[in-house]
Amino acid sequence: MAVSSSRSSDISSQNNYRPLTDSFGRVHSNLRVSVTDRCNLRCFYCMPAENVQFLPRKELLSFEEISQFVDCMVRRCGLTKVRLTGGEPLVRQDLHQLISQLVSIPGLKQIGLTTNGILLEQHAERLFEAGLRRINISLDTLDREKFKQYTRRDNLDQVLAGIEAARKVGFPSLKVNAIAIQGMTEDDLVSLGYFARETGIEVRFIEYMPLDADQGWEREKVLFAEKMIQILSEQVGPLQPVEAPQKNSPSQSYEFVDGQGKIGFISSVSKPFCAECNRFRLTAEGKIRNCLFSLEETDVRELLRANAGEDLLIDRVMQSIATKKEGHEINTANFLQPERPMYSIGG
Ligand code: SAM
Ligand code: SF4
Repeated sequence: MAVSSSRSSDISSQNNYRPLTDSFGRVHSNLRVSVTDRCNLRCFYCMPAENVQFLPRKELLSFEEISQFVDCMVRRCGLTKVRLTGGEPLVRQDLHQLISQLVSIPGLKQIGLTTNGILLEQHAERLFEAGLRRINISLDTLDREKFKQYTRRDNLDQVLAGIEAARKVGFPSLKVNAIAIQGMTEDDLVSLGYFARETGIEVRFIEYMPLDADQGWEREKVLFAEKMIQILSEQVGPLQPVEAPQKNSPSQSYEFVDGQGKIGFISSVSKPFCAECNRFRLTAEGKIRNCLFSLEETDVRELLRANAGEDLLIDRVMQSIATKKEGHEINTANFLQPERPMYSIGG
C-alpha cells in the first residue's frame, strides 16, 4: 500500500493546525522514531563494548502509542516524514506491523528505516509488503576484519546478504551509510566508492560525531568531507556535485563525472546543517528531543498513556521545539556531549 498524501494539502487550513516552528523560524516536519535501544552490534563509535543497560520492555512505547503520536503530529502539526531507527530497529519484533500502521496515516508522505542490515535478509519482503519503500543500511567497510573492528561483531556476510535481499525485493530508495573516521575510513572510502559504482547504490559518509558511549570522540578523529572528496577523486575517479543540496537534507550528493556512481557526504561537523534543520526525535521510551545534541528532553509517554488529549500532547512537543538552540556548537568550547549516546537517542 502506498502512503497517501491526499489530506496533506488540507491540513494547514484547519483551525487547530499548529506548525512546530521554533524561535529561529525553523518548521519541524521530520521525525526520527527510535523503536528500541537494543542492538545486535556494538559499534565502538556508538555503544559501549559490554554491560549495556537496556530499557525494560514496558518502558518502550507500543506500536499503537507511536502511531497515535505520529497521527496527531501529521494531522495537527504538519509532520510529513518519519524514519524508524534505534538501537537496531529490526530487533524489535514485528516491526512490519508498525510500518503498516504508519502507512495508513493520511498525509504522512515518507516513511524510512535505518538499519544495520543484519536481519534484513529475513525481513525485507515483509517490510516491502507492509508499504516500506526507503531503507538506509549502515555499512562502514567491506573488509571482514575491519568490520569486526568497527562493530565488535563478525556479521559482515549477513549485512551484505541483507543489502542483496533488499535489492531483489525492489526497494526504490536504498542507500548505504558509512561513518567517516580519520585513520580508519580512508581505505574503506575507496572500496565503498567502487561499491557505489558497481551497485548503483548511493553510499553516504557521515562525519564522526561526539555521540559515542565511550566518549572517545576528538575533532582530530573526524574525516572531513573535503578530504574524502580529494581521496575519492584521486583514487576512484573525479566527482562533481549532483545538484544544489536538497532543502532540509543534511547530505550533499556527488557523482563520478562518468555518471556511474553516487556518493553523499553528511558534514555534520565541518559544515553543520543546523540552520536548515527541521528534525525532531522521539526516543524509544517516549521522550522528545529537539536535537541530536540536546541536553534536555520532554516526556510524552505519560500523556499518551493517560489519554491526556491532543492539545496537551502538542503543548508538550511545542515546549521542546520552542527551546531548540540555534546550532549544536560542536565546533565551540561551549559544547557538552549529551549523556545519552547515539544508540540510546536513535540516530
Ligand atoms: N542500528 C541502526 C544502524 O546502525 O543503522 C540504526 C541506529 S544507528 C545509531 C544510526 C546511524 O547512526 C548509523 O548509520 C550509524 O553509523 C550512525 N552513528 C552512530 N554513532 C555515530 C557517531 N558517533 N557519529 C556519527 N554517526 C554515528
Ligand atoms: Fe547498533 Fe547502529 Fe549503534 Fe552500530 S550504529 S551499535 S548498529 S545502533
